[in-house]
Amino acid sequence: MAGILLSALAMTLIVALRYLAVSGGFAWATARLHPGLYARLGPQIRREIGWSLVSAAIYGVPAGILAWGWAQRGWTRVYTDPHQWSLWWWPVSVLLALALHDTWFYWTHRWLHRRGPFHRAHAVHHASRHPTAWAAMSFHPWEALTGAVVIPALVLAIPLHVGSLGLVLAIMTLMGVTNHMGWEIFPRSWVEGRVGRWLITASHHHRHHSDYRCNYGLYFRVWDRLCGTDRGLVPADATGRTQRQRTSPLSTEWPSSPPPPAPSNVPSSPPPPRIAPKAAPATAPTTRPVVPSERLQ
Ligand SMILES: [Zn+2]
Ligand SMILES: [Zn+2]
Repeated sequence: MAGILLSALAMTLIVALRYLAVSGGFAWATARLHPGLYARLGPQIRREIGWSLVSAAIYGVPAGILAWGWAQRGWTRVYTDPHQWSLWWWPVSVLLALALHDTWFYWTHRWLHRRGPFHRAHAVHHASRHPTAWAAMSFHPWEALTGAVVIPALVLAIPLHVGSLGLVLAIMTLMGVTNHMGWEIFPRSWVEGRVGRWLITASHHHRHHSDYRCNYGLYFRVWDRLCGTDRGLVPADATGRTQRQRTSPLSTEWPSSPPPPAPSNVPSSPPPPRIAPKAAPATAPTTRPVVPSERLQ
């Protein structure tokens, strides 16, 4: 029992330190490359860090228990011998894991935009209308739980080499941070070209934080395209200079256009998050900016 508790605690610390290191690193890069982008966002950043550290425990505990079971009891289908499965399985397993994660995320995300779950949980994430690199794990605990089951389910269901699992976790972490950074890390020629038609980067997810009822995916635009919820990318900022830059701050304003028809199973207008969720953890602040209602029409 002590071993399980120790493993859960160690994994929580690892997840928290990974978050602080990666988000902190990209926040530092943001301050260098785009000074002022996070100006006046101090209270929001403190709130994002608070919720993210709570999420670290929610992700870390089940992962730690499973890691203990893997080491002590042979749980999970994670393998270390690279020849245990054919080499072609290595990239296929990574893509499969990402596709399954993306599918789970898309549909749970759609559900989280229903009126009840949005008020009770998802409003915490959307309180960051202009998210920062610190918003990567800024979720209410109920929402964090929907994410915490993903990696345990994947390692129980799919044979994954330990290196493949590491790659999936690295992609998950990097995309979670960079998609919220408020600027595009990839060249516009990629983002607006063939690759960007299918992959999600900051330009895509930023629009979700502004428009709410579109762009629900995590890694790929496949489900959004299939379900008619893809509303395209946020443009680079209005100065025009960013079109020639390798990295682009993302515009937070663009000409208003009529909102797309709401998907049939998603309520058309989740009201602004005003209610502090019950049982708010001590580390998480209880005040959040009110989302402008015009974006929720
Ligand atoms: Zn959302
Ligand atoms: Zn987000």
